[in-house]
Amino acid sequence: MEKKDYYEVLGVSKDATQAEIKSAFRKLAKKYHPDVSKEPDAAEKFKEAQEAYAVLSDEDKRKQYDQFGHSAFNNNGAGGYDFSGFDFSDIFKEAFGSGFGGFSDFGFGGFGGNSNRATKGPDKIVRMDLEFEEAVFGTNKDITLTLNDTCDECDGEGGFDVDTCDKCHGSGTITAQQQTIFGAFMTKTTCDKCEGRGKTYTRECMKCHGSGTVRRKKTIEVKIPAGVDTGNQLRIRGKGEAGKNGGPNGDIYLEFYVKEHPIFRRDDNDIYLDLPITVSEAALGCKKKVPTLYGNITLTIPAGSESGDKHRVRGKGVENVNAFGKGDMYIVLKVKTPKRLSREQKKLFEQLAKTGLDDAADFKKIESYL
Ligand SMILES: [Zn+2]
Ligand SMILES: [Zn+2]
Repeated sequence: MEKKDYYEVLGVSKDATQAEIKSAFRKLAKKYHPDVSKEPDAAEKFKEAQEAYAVLSDEDKRKQYDQFGHSAFNNNGAGGYDFSGFDFSDIFKEAFGSGFGGFSDFGFGGFGGNSNRATKGPDKIVRMDLEFEEAVFGTNKDITLTLNDTCDECDGEGGFDVDTCDKCHGSGTITAQQQTIFGAFMTKTTCDKCEGRGKTYTRECMKCHGSGTVRRKKTIEVKIPAGVDTGNQLRIRGKGEAGKNGGPNGDIYLEFYVKEHPIFRRDDNDIYLDLPITVSEAALGCKKKVPTLYGNITLTIPAGSESGDKHRVRGKGVENVNAFGKGDMYIVLKVKTPKRLSREQKKLFEQLAKTGLDDAADFKKIESYL
Protein backbone atom coordinates (compact mmCIF):
# COMPACT_ATOMS: atom_id res chain seq x y z
CA MET A 1 0.00 0.00 0.00
CA GLU A 2 1.26 3.43 -0.92
CA LYS A 3 2.08 5.50 2.15
CA LYS A 4 0.15 8.73 2.37
CA ASP A 5 1.94 12.04 2.16
CA TYR A 6 2.38 13.61 5.62
CA TYR A 7 1.06 16.99 4.46
CA GLU A 8 -1.93 15.26 2.99
CA VAL A 9 -2.54 13.35 6.23
CA LEU A 10 -2.66 16.58 8.22
CA GLY A 11 -4.45 18.44 5.45
CA VAL A 12 -1.96 21.29 5.25
CA SER A 13 0.05 22.80 2.40
CA LYS A 14 3.76 22.16 1.81
CA ASP A 15 4.61 25.62 3.14
CA ALA A 16 2.38 25.45 6.23
CA THR A 17 3.62 27.20 9.33
CA GLN A 18 4.28 25.33 12.56
CA ALA A 19 1.13 26.90 14.01
CA GLU A 20 -0.94 25.55 11.12
CA ILE A 21 0.58 22.09 11.48
CA LYS A 22 -0.11 22.05 15.19
CA SER A 23 -3.67 23.23 14.77
CA ALA A 24 -4.31 20.63 12.07
CA PHE A 25 -3.00 17.83 14.25
CA ARG A 26 -5.01 18.99 17.23
CA LYS A 27 -8.18 18.77 15.15
CA LEU A 28 -7.34 15.27 13.91
CA ALA A 29 -6.43 14.07 17.40
CA LYS A 30 -9.78 15.23 18.66
CA LYS A 31 -11.54 13.52 15.81
CA TYR A 32 -9.69 10.21 15.81
CA HIS A 33 -8.43 9.58 19.30
CA PRO A 34 -9.49 5.97 19.94
CA ASP A 35 -10.87 6.90 23.34
CA VAL A 36 -13.32 9.41 21.96
CA SER A 37 -13.80 8.54 18.30
CA LYS A 38 -16.69 6.50 16.95
CA GLU A 39 -15.04 6.15 13.54
CA PRO A 40 -14.32 2.52 12.62
CA ASP A 41 -10.75 3.19 11.46
CA ALA A 42 -10.01 5.76 14.17
CA ALA A 43 -6.94 3.97 15.58
CA GLU A 44 -5.36 3.76 12.13
CA LYS A 45 -6.10 7.42 11.30
CA PHE A 46 -4.87 8.53 14.69
CA LYS A 47 -1.54 6.75 14.26
CA GLU A 48 -1.15 8.19 10.79
CA ALA A 49 -1.71 11.69 12.14
CA GLN A 50 0.71 11.15 15.03
CA GLU A 51 3.42 9.97 12.66
CA ALA A 52 2.89 12.92 10.33
CA TYR A 53 2.88 15.39 13.17
CA ALA A 54 6.00 13.91 14.81
CA VAL A 55 7.89 14.52 11.56
CA LEU A 56 6.48 17.82 10.36
CA SER A 57 6.59 19.54 13.76
CA ASP A 58 10.36 18.99 13.87
CA GLU A 59 12.10 21.36 11.42
CA ASP A 60 15.08 19.03 10.85
CA LYS A 61 12.92 15.98 10.20
CA ARG A 62 10.60 18.04 8.05
CA LYS A 63 13.56 19.08 5.86
CA GLN A 64 14.66 15.43 5.55
CA TYR A 65 11.14 14.47 4.58
CA ASP A 66 10.83 17.30 2.04
CA GLN A 67 14.04 16.13 0.41
CA PHE A 68 13.75 12.33 0.53
CA GLY A 69 10.08 11.65 1.22
CA HIS A 70 9.18 8.58 3.27
CA SER A 71 12.46 6.88 2.40
CA ALA A 72 14.11 9.33 4.80
CA PHE A 73 12.76 7.24 7.71
CA ASN A 74 12.41 3.82 6.19
CA ASN A 75 15.23 2.21 8.15
CA ASN A 76 13.12 0.71 10.91
CA GLY A 77 11.57 -2.01 8.76
CA ALA A 78 8.01 -1.08 9.63
CA GLY A 79 8.03 1.74 7.10
CA GLY A 80 7.53 5.32 8.07
CA TYR A 81 8.81 7.31 10.96
CA ASP A 82 8.96 5.61 14.38
CA PHE A 83 7.23 8.14 16.61
CA SER A 84 7.19 6.08 19.81
CA GLY A 85 9.76 8.40 21.40
CA PHE A 86 7.77 11.51 20.65
CA ASP A 87 6.18 13.45 23.49
CA PHE A 88 2.58 14.29 22.59
CA SER A 89 1.49 15.14 26.11
CA ASP A 90 1.41 18.94 25.69
CA ILE A 91 -0.57 18.93 22.52
CA PHE A 92 -2.96 16.31 23.88
CA LYS A 93 -3.60 18.47 26.89
CA GLU A 94 -4.32 21.37 24.57
CA ALA A 95 -6.57 19.24 22.45
CA PHE A 96 -8.58 17.56 25.16
CA GLY A 97 -8.27 19.81 28.16
CA SER A 98 -7.49 18.64 31.67
CA GLY A 99 -10.84 16.97 32.13
CA PHE A 100 -10.20 14.42 29.43
CA GLY A 101 -10.48 10.86 30.67
CA GLY A 102 -7.13 9.44 29.63
CA PHE A 103 -5.84 7.24 26.87
CA SER A 104 -6.82 3.86 28.10
CA ASP A 105 -6.86 2.01 24.82
CA PHE A 106 -3.95 3.53 23.10
CA GLY A 107 -0.27 2.72 23.07
CA PHE A 108 1.38 2.91 26.41
CA GLY A 109 -1.67 4.43 27.98
CA GLY A 110 -3.29 0.99 28.20
CA PHE A 111 -3.44 0.87 31.97
CA GLY A 112 -7.08 -0.05 31.99
CA GLY A 113 -8.41 1.21 35.24
CA ASN A 114 -11.72 0.39 36.77
CA SER A 115 -14.87 1.40 35.12
CA ASN A 116 -18.38 1.63 36.39
CA ARG A 117 -19.77 0.50 33.07
CA ALA A 118 -22.47 -2.16 33.26
CA THR A 119 -20.79 -5.48 32.62
CA LYS A 120 -22.17 -8.99 32.33
CA GLY A 121 -21.38 -11.36 35.17
CA PRO A 122 -18.81 -14.08 34.56
CA ASP A 123 -19.91 -17.40 33.07
CA LYS A 124 -19.54 -20.57 35.05
CA ILE A 125 -18.98 -24.15 33.89
CA VAL A 126 -20.57 -26.79 36.09
CA ARG A 127 -19.90 -30.48 35.67
CA MET A 128 -22.95 -32.69 35.84
CA ASP A 129 -22.89 -36.48 36.12
CA LEU A 130 -25.79 -38.27 34.49
CA GLU A 131 -26.98 -41.84 34.55
CA PHE A 132 -26.98 -43.49 31.12
CA GLU A 133 -30.78 -43.43 30.90
CA GLU A 134 -30.99 -39.81 32.08
CA ALA A 135 -28.79 -38.77 29.17
CA VAL A 136 -30.74 -40.88 26.70
CA PHE A 137 -34.23 -39.83 27.74
CA GLY A 138 -33.60 -36.40 29.26
CA THR A 139 -34.50 -35.42 32.78
CA ASN A 140 -35.12 -32.55 35.14
CA LYS A 141 -32.41 -31.79 37.66
CA ASP A 142 -31.92 -29.39 40.49
CA ILE A 143 -28.45 -27.96 40.79
CA THR A 144 -27.30 -26.03 43.80
CA LEU A 145 -24.54 -23.49 43.31
CA THR A 146 -22.91 -20.85 45.44
CA LEU A 147 -22.88 -17.70 43.34
CA ASN A 148 -22.51 -13.97 43.55
CA ASP A 149 -26.11 -12.89 43.35
CA THR A 150 -27.64 -9.43 43.20
CA CYS A 151 -28.11 -8.13 46.75
CA ASP A 152 -31.82 -8.08 47.49
CA GLU A 153 -31.43 -5.58 50.32
CA CYS A 154 -30.26 -2.75 48.05
CA ASP A 155 -31.27 -4.17 44.63
CA GLY A 156 -27.62 -4.30 43.67
CA GLU A 157 -27.07 -0.55 44.25
CA GLY A 158 -24.66 -1.16 47.12
CA GLY A 159 -26.29 1.46 49.32
CA PHE A 160 -29.12 3.88 49.84
CA ASP A 161 -29.63 7.48 48.74
CA VAL A 162 -27.23 7.03 45.88
CA ASP A 163 -25.43 10.09 44.55
CA THR A 164 -22.88 10.58 41.78
CA CYS A 165 -19.32 10.64 43.12
CA ASP A 166 -18.11 14.25 43.09
CA LYS A 167 -14.45 13.30 42.80
CA CYS A 168 -14.64 11.31 39.56
CA HIS A 169 -18.01 12.68 38.40
CA GLY A 170 -19.40 9.19 38.13
CA SER A 171 -16.74 7.74 35.85
CA GLY A 172 -15.15 5.69 38.62
CA THR A 173 -11.71 6.66 37.41
CA ILE A 174 -9.31 9.54 37.87
CA THR A 175 -7.05 10.67 35.08
CA ALA A 176 -3.40 11.18 35.85
CA GLN A 177 -0.31 11.81 33.76
CA GLN A 178 2.32 9.13 33.75
CA GLN A 179 5.91 9.65 32.66
CA THR A 180 7.42 6.77 30.70
CA ILE A 181 10.60 6.47 28.69
CA PHE A 182 8.45 7.04 25.62
CA GLY A 183 7.07 10.28 26.95
CA ALA A 184 4.13 11.34 29.00
CA PHE A 185 0.83 9.54 28.85
CA MET A 186 -2.48 10.01 30.51
CA THR A 187 -3.47 7.05 32.65
CA LYS A 188 -6.61 6.09 34.47
CA THR A 189 -6.67 5.01 38.07
CA THR A 190 -9.58 3.84 40.15
CA CYS A 191 -11.25 6.64 42.07
CA ASP A 192 -10.31 6.28 45.73
CA LYS A 193 -13.39 8.05 47.00
CA CYS A 194 -15.95 5.68 45.51
CA GLU A 195 -13.61 2.73 44.82
CA GLY A 196 -14.52 2.85 41.15
CA ARG A 197 -18.26 2.66 41.61
CA GLY A 198 -18.80 6.21 40.41
CA LYS A 199 -21.38 6.77 43.11
CA THR A 200 -21.53 7.46 46.80
CA TYR A 201 -24.22 6.66 49.32
CA THR A 202 -25.61 8.33 52.37
CA ARG A 203 -25.80 4.85 53.84
CA GLU A 204 -23.88 1.85 52.57
CA CYS A 205 -25.76 -1.44 52.37
CA MET A 206 -24.85 -3.55 55.40
CA LYS A 207 -25.68 -6.80 53.69
CA CYS A 208 -23.32 -6.53 50.73
CA HIS A 209 -20.96 -3.85 52.10
CA GLY A 210 -21.46 -1.73 49.02
CA SER A 211 -20.58 -4.38 46.46
CA GLY A 212 -24.19 -4.85 45.35
CA THR A 213 -23.74 -8.62 45.32
CA VAL A 214 -23.87 -11.33 47.96
CA ARG A 215 -22.62 -14.91 47.97
CA ARG A 216 -25.63 -17.08 47.99
CA LYS A 217 -26.58 -20.69 47.56
CA LYS A 218 -28.97 -20.93 44.68
CA THR A 219 -30.92 -23.91 43.47
CA ILE A 220 -31.73 -23.91 39.80
CA GLU A 221 -34.02 -26.35 38.10
CA VAL A 222 -32.76 -27.41 34.71
CA LYS A 223 -34.31 -29.47 31.98
CA ILE A 224 -31.78 -31.80 30.41
CA PRO A 225 -32.83 -32.60 26.84
CA ALA A 226 -32.90 -36.20 25.60
CA GLY A 227 -29.76 -37.29 23.79
CA VAL A 228 -26.99 -35.38 25.56
CA ASP A 229 -23.63 -37.11 25.75
CA THR A 230 -20.36 -36.80 27.61
CA GLY A 231 -18.68 -33.49 26.79
CA ASN A 232 -21.87 -31.78 25.61
CA GLN A 233 -22.52 -28.39 27.16
CA LEU A 234 -25.87 -26.88 27.90
CA ARG A 235 -26.06 -23.13 28.31
CA ILE A 236 -28.41 -21.78 30.94
CA ARG A 237 -28.76 -18.13 30.17
CA GLY A 238 -28.63 -15.50 32.87
CA LYS A 239 -28.47 -17.85 35.83
CA GLY A 240 -24.77 -17.32 36.59
CA GLU A 241 -22.92 -14.75 38.65
CA ALA A 242 -24.46 -11.31 39.03
CA GLY A 243 -23.34 -8.58 36.63
CA LYS A 244 -21.66 -5.34 37.65
CA ASN A 245 -23.34 -1.97 37.76
CA GLY A 246 -26.65 -3.30 36.60
CA GLY A 247 -25.20 -5.54 33.89
CA PRO A 248 -26.89 -8.88 33.18
CA ASN A 249 -26.03 -12.09 34.99
CA GLY A 250 -23.49 -14.44 33.49
CA ASP A 251 -24.48 -17.81 32.04
CA ILE A 252 -24.05 -21.28 33.42
CA TYR A 253 -22.68 -23.99 31.18
CA LEU A 254 -23.52 -27.49 32.27
CA GLU A 255 -20.97 -29.98 31.03
CA PHE A 256 -22.19 -33.57 31.03
CA TYR A 257 -20.44 -36.75 32.02
CA VAL A 258 -22.54 -39.78 31.23
CA LYS A 259 -21.98 -42.96 33.24
CA GLU A 260 -21.53 -46.29 31.52
CA HIS A 261 -24.35 -48.77 31.25
CA PRO A 262 -23.88 -52.40 32.37
CA ILE A 263 -24.87 -53.78 28.95
CA PHE A 264 -25.50 -50.96 26.46
CA ARG A 265 -22.67 -49.09 24.79
CA ARG A 266 -23.20 -45.75 23.14
CA ASP A 267 -21.43 -44.43 20.06
CA ASP A 268 -22.83 -41.02 19.23
CA ASN A 269 -26.53 -41.75 18.78
CA ASP A 270 -26.15 -45.47 18.10
CA ILE A 271 -26.46 -48.11 20.78
CA TYR A 272 -24.46 -51.35 20.78
CA LEU A 273 -25.30 -54.54 22.62
CA ASP A 274 -23.13 -57.64 22.73
CA LEU A 275 -25.45 -60.65 22.66
CA PRO A 276 -24.01 -64.01 23.76
CA ILE A 277 -25.41 -67.09 21.99
CA THR A 278 -24.49 -70.76 22.33
CA VAL A 279 -22.68 -72.82 19.72
CA SER A 280 -25.88 -74.68 18.94
CA GLU A 281 -27.91 -71.49 18.65
CA ALA A 282 -25.32 -70.20 16.21
CA ALA A 283 -25.36 -73.40 14.19
CA LEU A 284 -29.08 -74.05 14.17
CA GLY A 285 -30.44 -70.51 14.35
CA CYS A 286 -32.93 -69.34 16.96
CA LYS A 287 -35.23 -66.62 18.16
CA LYS A 288 -33.93 -64.53 21.07
CA LYS A 289 -35.55 -62.02 23.35
CA VAL A 290 -33.33 -58.95 23.46
CA PRO A 291 -33.59 -55.87 25.69
CA THR A 292 -33.48 -52.45 24.03
CA LEU A 293 -33.74 -48.94 25.45
CA TYR A 294 -37.42 -49.06 24.54
CA GLY A 295 -38.43 -52.50 25.80
CA ASN A 296 -37.81 -56.07 24.66
CA ILE A 297 -37.79 -57.21 21.07
CA THR A 298 -37.47 -60.66 19.51
CA LEU A 299 -34.48 -61.10 17.26
CA THR A 300 -34.34 -63.87 14.69
CA ILE A 301 -30.85 -65.29 14.45
CA PRO A 302 -30.33 -67.30 11.27
CA ALA A 303 -28.68 -70.72 11.20
CA GLY A 304 -24.95 -70.50 10.59
CA SER A 305 -24.41 -67.24 12.49
CA GLU A 306 -20.92 -66.30 13.57
CA SER A 307 -19.35 -64.28 16.34
CA GLY A 308 -19.26 -60.62 15.30
CA ASP A 309 -22.36 -60.76 13.10
CA LYS A 310 -24.26 -57.48 13.49
CA HIS A 311 -28.00 -57.02 13.45
CA ARG A 312 -29.26 -53.53 12.98
CA VAL A 313 -32.50 -52.50 14.65
CA ARG A 314 -33.60 -49.21 13.16
CA GLY A 315 -34.63 -46.36 15.39
CA LYS A 316 -33.77 -48.03 18.67
CA GLY A 317 -30.85 -45.70 19.31
CA VAL A 318 -30.63 -42.33 21.03
CA GLU A 319 -32.57 -39.26 20.06
CA ASN A 320 -30.46 -36.66 18.26
CA VAL A 321 -30.12 -33.78 20.71
CA ASN A 322 -29.62 -31.19 17.96
CA ALA A 323 -31.95 -32.41 15.26
CA PHE A 324 -34.87 -34.61 14.47
CA GLY A 325 -34.37 -38.36 14.40
CA LYS A 326 -32.88 -41.22 16.32
CA GLY A 327 -29.87 -43.43 16.05
CA ASP A 328 -30.03 -47.20 15.52
CA MET A 329 -29.25 -50.16 17.71
CA TYR A 330 -26.69 -52.78 16.73
CA ILE A 331 -26.85 -56.22 18.25
CA VAL A 332 -23.47 -57.93 17.96
CA LEU A 333 -23.43 -61.71 18.28
CA LYS A 334 -20.85 -63.34 20.55
CA VAL A 335 -20.78 -67.12 20.11
CA LYS A 336 -19.82 -68.61 23.44
CA THR A 337 -17.78 -71.80 23.31
CA PRO A 338 -18.63 -73.88 26.39
CA LYS A 339 -15.71 -74.00 28.81
CA ARG A 340 -16.79 -76.89 30.98
CA LEU A 341 -18.55 -79.84 29.42
CA SER A 342 -20.44 -82.58 31.20
CA ARG A 343 -19.58 -86.15 30.29
CA GLU A 344 -22.68 -86.37 28.11
CA GLN A 345 -21.98 -83.09 26.31
CA LYS A 346 -18.41 -84.17 25.67
CA LYS A 347 -19.61 -87.42 24.12
CA LEU A 348 -22.03 -85.56 21.89
CA PHE A 349 -19.32 -83.16 20.71
CA GLU A 350 -17.05 -86.11 19.93
CA GLN A 351 -19.79 -87.73 17.88
CA LEU A 352 -20.43 -84.42 16.16
CA ALA A 353 -16.75 -84.05 15.31
CA LYS A 354 -16.78 -87.38 13.45
CA THR A 355 -19.49 -86.11 11.14
CA GLY A 356 -17.05 -83.83 9.37
CA LEU A 357 -17.71 -80.32 10.63
CA ASP A 358 -14.43 -79.16 9.14
CA ASP A 359 -15.24 -79.49 5.45
CA ALA A 360 -16.06 -75.83 4.92
CA ALA A 361 -14.08 -73.94 2.26
CA ASP A 362 -12.18 -71.89 4.87
CA PHE A 363 -10.67 -75.01 6.38
CA LYS A 364 -9.57 -76.28 2.98
CA LYS A 365 -7.91 -72.98 2.16
CA ILE A 366 -5.62 -73.13 5.16
CA GLU A 367 -4.95 -76.86 4.65
CA SER A 368 -3.67 -76.13 1.14
CA TYR A 369 -0.80 -74.22 2.70
CA LEU A 370 0.22 -76.97 5.11
ZN1 LIG B 1 -15.43 8.45 42.44
ZN1 LIG C 1 -26.70 -4.60 49.25
